[in-house]
Amino acid sequence: MTPLIERFRDRLPVSAATPVVSLGEGSTPLLHAPRLGKLLGIDLWLKWEASNPTGSYKDRGMTVAVSKAAEQGAKAVICASTGNTSSSAAAYAARAGIPALILIPEGAIAGGKLIQTRALGAKVLEVRGDFDAALAGARELADRGTHALVNSLNPYRIEGQKTVVFEIVEELGGAPDAFVIPYGGGGNTRAYVKGLDEAGLTTPLWSIESDDRPHTLASAIKIQTPVHRPQVEASGARVVAVTDDEIVAAWLQLAREEGLFCEPSSAAGLAWLRRGTELQGARVVVTITGHGLKDPDIANKHAPPPVKVDADPDAIAAAAR
Ligand SMILES: *Cc1c(COP(=O)(O)O)cnc(C)c1O
Repeated sequence: MTPLIERFRDRLPVSAATPVVSLGEGSTPLLHAPRLGKLLGIDLWLKWEASNPTGSYKDRGMTVAVSKAAEQGAKAVICASTGNTSSSAAAYAARAGIPALILIPEGAIAGGKLIQTRALGAKVLEVRGDFDAALAGARELADRGTHALVNSLNPYRIEGQKTVVFEIVEELGGAPDAFVIPYGGGGNTRAYVKGLDEAGLTTPLWSIESDDRPHTLASAIKIQTPVHRPQVEASGARVVAVTDDEIVAAWLQLAREEGLFCEPSSAAGLAWLRRGTELQGARVVVTITGHGLKDPDIANKHAPPPVKVDADPDAIAAAAR
């Protein structure tokens, strides 16, 4: 697989001196979803970002951020995270051969993401506080110069993440009528805006947030104060809020209708589209940002449990009805 940095080298701030730290990120499937699209009244395309190496789109930005950190001689990387940034930072730091220090808000990170980060060898500190408090800590250590910050405040993250727009436009053979993505901290919204801008497009972008940011079950967008909010508001992206009930309904529907098991945050866009929006009839690309296995507890709560049965064909046949 061509590394993202090689595929888009001419549109990224890298040079021959940049060591490419890659795990085969990007070049993810763009799936037409005619059945779910018909139910929603749109020509629906799904950008399946869960097929990135650590299971979320964060790898697009992390390959550039960690490659640049390595180029600049960083001795370690640091981030605060609701989970996917930590898994990605841990993986790319391991690949680069440098340590990762991860600050997570106490009790607020999904099980799969935490296990993944631990397994990847990162040092994980669980901060007594929320995401904002963890981020403040990470910024302070970065300021002291001991660690390179790889949160989305790192501009190289945005650079890498913008490449998703180029892929979508290339694969569709043109721009869709709209892009729809989830909105947590807003770094990804800025990346799409930048990608659209550099591709010379004015396609509308909808960014879907939770109506209850501090408490939503969608852990990847559970961010009380989006660090990029001023830039998101100035960007022209249209921000809409959805409820947890809407997210859960959309998330289960995506899995059952199209076979894509994502984490709840990734279904925020579909949750909004299920309301029946002004996008009726339009060609819409919805980005599915992260994998369902990231958050097994949530799936366990909402998916039907297995039915116990004796090891007997008649019993199995009866239970199958
Ligand atoms: C990070 C993340 C988001 C939110 O992206 P922001 O850049 O914080 O707005 C949404 N979904 C998933 C799966 C994520 O990992």
